[in-house]
Amino acid sequence: MITDNNFGKRDKKGNWKPNDRIIPMPRFIIPFQPLRLLKWIFGWNGYIFPMQFIWAIITLVVWFLLTPSLDEFKEVNLYTLGYIFLRNSMIVFIYAGFFHLHFYIKKNQKNNFKYNAKFLEKNSKFLFKDQTKDNMIWVFLSAIPIWSIYEYFTFWSFANNYITLISWEQYPIYLLVLFFLVPIIRDIHFYLTHRLLHTKFFYKIAHKVHHHNVNPGPWSGLAMHPVEHVIYFSGILIHWIIPSHPLIALWHIFHAGIAPHAGHSGFDKIVFKNGMHLHTGTYFHYLHHKYFECNYSGDTSNYLDKWFGTMHDGSDESHRKMLSRLKLS
Ligand SMILES: [Zn+2]
Ligand SMILES: [Zn+2]
Repeated sequence: MITDNNFGKRDKKGNWKPNDRIIPMPRFIIPFQPLRLLKWIFGWNGYIFPMQFIWAIITLVVWFLLTPSLDEFKEVNLYTLGYIFLRNSMIVFIYAGFFHLHFYIKKNQKNNFKYNAKFLEKNSKFLFKDQTKDNMIWVFLSAIPIWSIYEYFTFWSFANNYITLISWEQYPIYLLVLFFLVPIIRDIHFYLTHRLLHTKFFYKIAHKVHHHNVNPGPWSGLAMHPVEHVIYFSGILIHWIIPSHPLIALWHIFHAGIAPHAGHSGFDKIVFKNGMHLHTGTYFHYLHHKYFECNYSGDTSNYLDKWFGTMHDGSDESHRKMLSRLKLS
């Protein structure tokens, strides 16, 4: 069985951190190294495989099997909206529930690869004094309704030609490139809106709900205040501006709805009984939850943090830099 002591260190409190420093993403662009860039894009634990590939497959299954035809979106129909909400709820319940079951209910790998020694919390910061209940309430009563409304009205706009729909037959390369770039577009939007959410006003009225999760779990990924959900899922509106296709818009909003659960799981890797393992957590975003004022970007666009001087790569040196930056501000 693969164990975390080959990949990192545990301190006296039992908190684990990976040995490797976090590398700013996307990799191999500055300085430009085309062959290594291609290897990173298509190789294992790179840009596509395994996680983004899994999310793309989920989106394709939803598109081909679980999405009504575009004609059904022409007139506003609450049954279709309700169906979209139930469908998205089921998918998130199964997907995030899988990580919660593995890591926190069955504790299949105990604290192997867990960043924070403690498991999920029960304290008065959270609704019902329970982190899991609190997180699930924000997910099912706010995140998924707001996601579903964005998704529904984007399809409604495509169906009524209020926004530009282009076909795969006419523009296959443009749409393929757009599909490929969606995670990066999302992360840039995430960085910009996340900086906004860290202003005093938005932090106080909204973003603090997400940051109650100093030690996050799978359900913390979308545990946000409704104001933050409106901002977080607004990235889909780019498809109202640029020529696009409903499948790409679906990929965009599904990426936003699916990606955060594994990333917030609190574990760097998921290890199965047969020894198979996948990189799940993101130490980069875990450090954001731990220290608040660093690492604002998403995983594929950490270069933004490097440029703006807010990158914490896990090393003692960057920790010192962060502390001196905070003293100055
Ligand atoms: Zn987070
Ligand atoms: Zn934040």
